[in-house]
Amino acid sequence: MTEKYSTEINEKIAWFDKNYAEIKNRIAEASETIGKSSDDIILLAATKTVEPEVINHAIESGIEYIGENRVQEFLSKKDSLITSHRHFIGHLQTNKVKDIVAEVEMIESVHSVKLANEIDKQCKRIGKTMEILLEVNIGNEESKSGFSSEELEAALKEIAKLECVKVKGFMTIPPICENCEQICNYFNKMHKLFIDIRGKNIDNIDMVYLSMGMSSDYYEAILCGANIVRVGTSLFGRRNYN
Ligand SMILES: *Cc1c(COP(=O)(O)O)cnc(C)c1O
Repeated sequence: MTEKYSTEINEKIAWFDKNYAEIKNRIAEASETIGKSSDDIILLAATKTVEPEVINHAIESGIEYIGENRVQEFLSKKDSLITSHRHFIGHLQTNKVKDIVAEVEMIESVHSVKLANEIDKQCKRIGKTMEILLEVNIGNEESKSGFSSEELEAALKEIAKLECVKVKGFMTIPPICENCEQICNYFNKMHKLFIDIRGKNIDNIDMVYLSMGMSSDYYEAILCGANIVRVGTSLFGRRNYN
């Protein structure tokens, strides 16, 4: 163990080193179970509260995708980070869009047509096209943002008209479940929606990614068709906020 970092950073690095290989193995196992290669699955490290030194260590160890939740936190860390694919995965307010569009290659958490419009507007300003995922509130929870499955298709058709935004799929955070059966039920619903919408071949909509599954359920998510899993705690240990 090196002396150059604080205890907290060293602890997270040690946790990562201990758990990363195991997580990759489980991803490989889940993908093989359904006849996919683990290369088909993106392991995105959810890096909220994680220090740049730890994130860089993870990237140097093989993590290719990171996802941040909070605009201010991300902006304060970004200049210290080495190269990786950067996604925004947290709740995004319309007035923060302008601060983030230049910094990420995908926004996974687009929860309204209004937000998509603003992303389009800000991307136009800087001459960029943003890949986005639509966040689906698959459990219809009051406490969560995102499109209900009923409003999804109409929203997609609106968003498809935007020039500087490209829908690449769906993201979801299902309700907290007591068992695998419950969670798989939500994951299966999401997969069905994903397949149904893909089958409609809507112009300018390119259904490639289904982002679902976190530390406690990424294995099940992959079995149910996820190809992006967002993992934080299992890679870096417990954190103080969500
Ligand atoms: C924090 C977070 C994750 C990762 O959650 P863990 O349970 O720590 O793996 C995934 N997705 C989103 C949107 C998050 O905010």
